[in-house]
Parts: sequence; C-alpha cells; structure tokens
Amino acid sequence: MRSKLCFAISNIKYRSNFLSAQVVRDDSVVGTAFFFFQLSPKSGAHHVPHALGAGVRSRARTDTCARGGRGRRTCDVSVAHLPLIARVASPPMRDARSPLPGDYEDVGPSPRVLGTGSYGITKLMRHKGTSELYAVKLIARGEHITDHVRREIVNHRHLCHPFVVQFKEAFVTSTHLGVAMEFVSGGELFNYVRQHRSFNEAQARYFFQHLVSGVEYLHAMRVVHRDLKLENLLVDLSGTSPQLKICDFGYSKSDHDSHPKTRIGTPAYISPEVYGGARPYDGKASDVWACGVVLYVMLAGSYPFQDPADPNSNHATMWRVLDVKYVLPVGLRDDGADLLLRIFVKDPKARIPIAGITQHAWFVMDLSTNVPLGPTQPMEHFDHGLSQTLEEIDAIVNAAKQTLVATPSVEY
Ligand code: ADP
Repeated sequence: MRSKLCFAISNIKYRSNFLSAQVVRDDSVVGTAFFFFQLSPKSGAHHVPHALGAGVRSRARTDTCARGGRGRRTCDVSVAHLPLIARVASPPMRDARSPLPGDYEDVGPSPRVLGTGSYGITKLMRHKGTSELYAVKLIARGEHITDHVRREIVNHRHLCHPFVVQFKEAFVTSTHLGVAMEFVSGGELFNYVRQHRSFNEAQARYFFQHLVSGVEYLHAMRVVHRDLKLENLLVDLSGTSPQLKICDFGYSKSDHDSHPKTRIGTPAYISPEVYGGARPYDGKASDVWACGVVLYVMLAGSYPFQDPADPNSNHATMWRVLDVKYVLPVGLRDDGADLLLRIFVKDPKARIPIAGITQHAWFVMDLSTNVPLGPTQPMEHFDHGLSQTLEEIDAIVNAAKQTLVATPSVEY
C-alpha cells in the first residue's frame, strides 16, 4: 500500500486555471500531476486551489492534459493525494482584490508596447472582465523583483490624485509581476514639448500648475518621487483639456523608508546637494529642483544645466549644476524669472518650498479651480480601502521573486 506522504513535488507551472507539477518519490520523478483551480463562488476572483481532477486513470486527468495541450502523461499519484499536493503547491494568497493571471489581455492582434526599460516593458492591455484599458508594467519574475520594485508598488498603491497616474493592482503570472495602472493616452510630456518645440509661457504654466499640485500631494502623502522629469510626466488627452499625470514611482521613497541617501535620478534633473554628496538629503527640496528643470525645458526647449559646448557630458552637466550656472529663458516675464531664480538655489534650505511655489505670483496666474492645492488636496483618499493591502502586495512580490519555468502558452 502506498503511503500518503511519501512524495514531493517540483517544477510547478501555473496556468490560468490549472497547474502541473512533477511528482518525485525517492529522488526520482515518477510522473506529472495536473490540477484544475476553481474560482471561489463568493469572491469571483478568489484563487482557491481546488484539485478538481487528476490521477493516473481518471478521465479528468485526460481532459486536463488535453486542455494544457501537452499530451497524455502518466501520473503515479492517487486522487486522494491531490488536495494535499494542491495545498503544498498552491500559489501565494490571493483574495477578491487580487486578479488572476489571465485577467488582462493584449489589445489587438499584436501587443502595444507603451514603454520599455531595464525592468521589462509597459504594455497597453484590456481587462477581460470590464473591457477597460490599462497600462500594465510587466517585470520578469526572479532577480528583477528587487526592493525597488516592491517600494514602487507600495508607494504608488495608495495614491489617488487627478495629476498622478492611478494605480489599479499588482498581480503575478507564471512569468511576470504585473502592475496595472490607469492608461494615459497622450504619451510623455517630453514628446509633447518636442512636437511643440517649446511652449509659450501660458502653456508651460498650465502644465507646471498640474505638476506642482501633484508633487504637493505626494509630499503631503509623505512620498518623494526622486525622478521627476518630462519622460515621467504623461499627458492625458481623454478629457476636454489635457491633464498632466505623474508616473514611475521606481525611485520613490516614503517617510516610512529610511531617508534618501543614494544618488539616483537623471543627470539633467539632479539637484546640487545630491551631486554634492549630502547624505541623507531632503528629498522634497530635490523634487522642487527637478520641477524647476521641467519648467525650464517647457519654456526654453533645452536643459538649463547642459553645457552647450559638451551637451552629452553628464560630468559637464554636474559641474554646471554645482555652480548653478544657467541662462534664463529668453523673453520670460520678470515674475517667471523670479520663480526660476528661487527654485535654482544651491542651498536646499534656502530653496523655495512647494508651498511657496503655490503662492508665487507667476504660478497663480490663470490658475484653474480644478487644480487642487493646499487644503483642497484630496487627502481623504489616504488608504481609501480600494487598494491592495501591504500584506497582499508582499505576498505577490515574494511570489514573483521566485522563478517558475516559463512556458510558451502563458498569457504574457
Ligand atoms: P521605467 O521605470 O523604466 O522608467 P515607466 O514606469 O516610466 O518605466 O514606464 C516607461 C514608459 O512607459 C513611460 O515613460 C511611458 O512612456 C510609458 N508608460 C508608463 N506608464 C504609462 C501609463 N500609465 N500610460 C501610458 N503610458 C505609460
């Protein structure tokens, strides 16, 4: 008679509704078992591993194999063992707010890539249940799932603001960690400015007001972004007027983390104190500096601290930042020039704070009531209960740290 606990399982592969696992006994593989999952009738999205059928001679196993498209396998496991195997092999906890791996699909016959990075890609995808479009950042499981990735999700998940890309959910598939967020249709502000060569003052002010409103909110939520730049500012063209959306919280820090110490960011936007090696430094003041660079690029169509004689040299840029050496954009009103002069101040303590910018004469001109500032910021959204909990995020991130063998038939 076979003992119930005399086997181990390995090489688990998850599909959208079943898993396969190699069954090992006495150090040798004795077969492959297949298990269906079942959706929880209560939550609809609950990923409960019910072993619905498998086993050497059962018809259910044959069906499973046929669905998996992998041909018949022998499986030296009795049906009585399956709940146990399923429990051992079950993927990390999910609940009603955690999607199933197959919830998102590509839009159209070929994937639409919105952006690529060292992490992986961001794709336009459709949620199968609601048909809504989302930008989904996909990061390969395994070594790419670092603490930065966790921090990006944790810091982004509870933000809710008109000028910040809305986080939807994180999930794990057999090959990737996915982060679904609001899809912003108009692309990067960088390209928008390039198409227009540069903006006139009124256009630059319009987007700068959105940026400052969003950054003020982030700071009030105790998050510093640390990589504000035109490539991380998207333009939403879905409404009657364009709206700026801050994205990419990959370098962000929250008060709950340690104070910012590492020199990160993009050379043209890095502040003098970060270049100068201050550790720790005031992340909020550095964000203000980066906002100033964004404003300058919108107004002038060029980077303030780029050396005209050596535009590709980060080193030359660094020295000009440390010397605060730049030329004011031609034709800028006096109060606009005054604002830039107050932002580009070497000493972060003497630099104008975000609250000072929101009071500045140049900033408040033509300010729409749709731009939340100060007490009108939507702070009540803090932990609005819609986002995944920290425990859920940790379970998903920890699962994604482990690599599973990728199979060609997975959804992503
Ligand atoms: P990285 O961390 O590598 O910079 P990002 O999160 O900035 O990755 O995404 C890379 C690019 O993908 C962005 O610069 C933008 O062009 C595009 N992108 C990111 N998020 C969205 C979104 N929510 N909607 C539309 N495009 C997006």
